[in-house]
Amino acid sequence: MASTKFVFVTGGVTSSLGKGIISASLGKLLQARGFSVAIQKFDPYINIDPGTLNPYEHGECYVTNDGAETDLDLGHYERFLNSPTSQANNVTTGRIYNNVITKERKGEYLGKTVQVIPHITDEIKQNMLLLGESGKYDFVITEIGGCVGDIESLPFIEAVRQVKYDIGTNNTIVIHLTLLPYLSAAKEIKTKPTQHSVKQLLEAGIQPDILVCRSEKHLPMEIRKKLALFCNVQLNAVIEALDAETIYDVPILMRKEKLDERVLTRLKVPSKNEPNLDLWKTFLGKLKNPTEEVNIGLVGKYVELPDAYKSIVESFIHAGAENECKVNISWISSEDIDSTNAGNKLENLDGVLVAPGFGERGIEGKIEAVRFVRENKIPFLGICLGMQCAVVEFARNVLNIKDAASTEIVAKTKNPIIDLMEDQKKITDMGGTMRLGSYPCRITKGSKAFQIYGKQNIEERHRHRYEFNNKYLEQIEKAGMIASGINPDSNLVEIIEIKDHPWFVASQYHPELKSTVINPHPLFVKFVKAALENKK
Ligand code: GLN
Repeated sequence: MASTKFVFVTGGVTSSLGKGIISASLGKLLQARGFSVAIQKFDPYINIDPGTLNPYEHGECYVTNDGAETDLDLGHYERFLNSPTSQANNVTTGRIYNNVITKERKGEYLGKTVQVIPHITDEIKQNMLLLGESGKYDFVITEIGGCVGDIESLPFIEAVRQVKYDIGTNNTIVIHLTLLPYLSAAKEIKTKPTQHSVKQLLEAGIQPDILVCRSEKHLPMEIRKKLALFCNVQLNAVIEALDAETIYDVPILMRKEKLDERVLTRLKVPSKNEPNLDLWKTFLGKLKNPTEEVNIGLVGKYVELPDAYKSIVESFIHAGAENECKVNISWISSEDIDSTNAGNKLENLDGVLVAPGFGERGIEGKIEAVRFVRENKIPFLGICLGMQCAVVEFARNVLNIKDAASTEIVAKTKNPIIDLMEDQKKITDMGGTMRLGSYPCRITKGSKAFQIYGKQNIEERHRHRYEFNNKYLEQIEKAGMIASGINPDSNLVEIIEIKDHPWFVASQYHPELKSTVINPHPLFVKFVKAALENKK
């Protein structure tokens, strides 16, 4: 294709309509037709990135290979498209202002008053077009966070208007995702909120080209006609988006509604082939027809908000499908676990995952959970803080080092079995300063990790400040917990496992960030398999 086409996805009426899933689904359909696609998200909040946000605020923080701390929608983009994103795929208001202010200090606008229009909008535009400039992509899909009409998203909407003007209506398209509420008392689907949100877009100078309408009920023809007439879109550009059984159905539903065709026609892009969704459909077939079932306990401190563990949950869906097994997750608050009730809470589970996290709250419950599954030979997967808890538990209860702790929790412990990494000791800023992104890891032959991955050299993504303290390595290994994966450059321990246990593996890195529909992560696949075997 000659030049990159830009698709913008805005949201109306309310947030949480699933712009990320619609963007990812459209991306999937275009990719399945043989086009190369990138998806990016522009978020209107002032944090430079979501790395400093509590998961309760914004769900999980997704980390890319290049170490960017990003919005969880980037996880959906990667899981759907099976291609990595980067810092360039997630830009916030904070980053835009930071760039502009840095340029101002350097004197790049010397003599000028720096203003929202044109300086902030120019900076947004430049970032919006950046991925297109690589020449690698036929389509760049840009999701605009928030809702039209929000004060904070105005500069982004204005930037979209300008991009449309700058590069022409044949190269840009705006999809507006909206909600059509169903009033059960009136037995009616209402279009008014959508009409209003389209009006708001029009006031900002943008005529949406396609309406994607979230609805609990099928859209009758008269509703489609009404929307087309009052929102000024073609009748066939009113796309129904029913509530789906799983997010992975959405590409199929959007295909049925011909969203991809509308985009291609509108952008005058010829496409002879139908999208090839064979692998996707095979996955869906397995997902929907499990032959077995396992119960996995997820022990964490943010369990009231499953979005805090989005990638873990999705990884279990991928791994479950691979094993043709339904994975039921029992959410267990680590704060509720202690030595008296761990058995009650965990004994009926087929496997237990101890989740990543930060800080003291719930830590002793996590350690107690590890003790129980270690002693009772229940398959265990520990991730990041989960691995650190596994090491602390082993030191306390197997090596009998009673005050073993992570210095994150007990700063002055005499036995810092988990300690701040050397290069973290001088760091005082919190934002973007952890060990972030992809690092190599070398796996010991003959280990469980080697069986799992089937190779020695892997690369996985990280987000942490603390590490396994190598001063204790010899003692720990002698007692039966081995470090089966090591970073070859820094010697940091990346994987630990217990020899005398059917399946006890934990990683300092986050495997959940690399699991996709087409490439389910081997650690999750094998963990689910171990849980199945344990069940039998
Ligand atoms: N809090 C721990 C650390 O910083 C673990 C982080 C995590 O689980 N992502 O090392």
